[in-house]
Amino acid sequence: MNDSKLKALIEKISFEYFNKPFVGNAKFNGRLRTTGGRYIPSQNIIEINPKYLHELGEEDLIGIIKHELCHYHLHIAGKPYNHRSKEFRELLRKTGSPRFCRMLPSEEQKKRIKYKCETCGTEYQRKRRINLNKYRCGKCRGKLKLIN
Ligand SMILES: [Zn+2]
Ligand SMILES: [Zn+2]
Repeated sequence: MNDSKLKALIEKISFEYFNKPFVGNAKFNGRLRTTGGRYIPSQNIIEINPKYLHELGEEDLIGIIKHELCHYHLHIAGKPYNHRSKEFRELLRKTGSPRFCRMLPSEEQKKRIKYKCETCGTEYQRKRRINLNKYRCGKCRGKLKLIN
């Protein structure tokens, strides 16, 4: 998908969920890291993180677009459009748009805590830290060591 296809998709979603045209700009921005997209009011542009489309697919992309369109339409209407405003939360609810985007699988992977058994070398990944005095290797009961 390129920028003009992205813009066409945003226009379609705008009509479908907001009953209003989207007359701003749209582009993919590969430098966005952990956010799915952003709306820049001064340029009327919606930027989308292409990693979300590649890793999570079109459904998540549509959710991100709906979220950014909430910012856009409130901004255009001269209403408060920040995350905390009553108007923003109301519009999220009315259009069924997500408040947050999911974490990218690749980012989730990076955040995992890795352990290795000192005896048999088996590696384990956990989302949270574990107590190394309490937990042992599931295969050989050996001692685990933090490796990242
Ligand atoms: Zn937002
Ligand atoms: Zn082991």
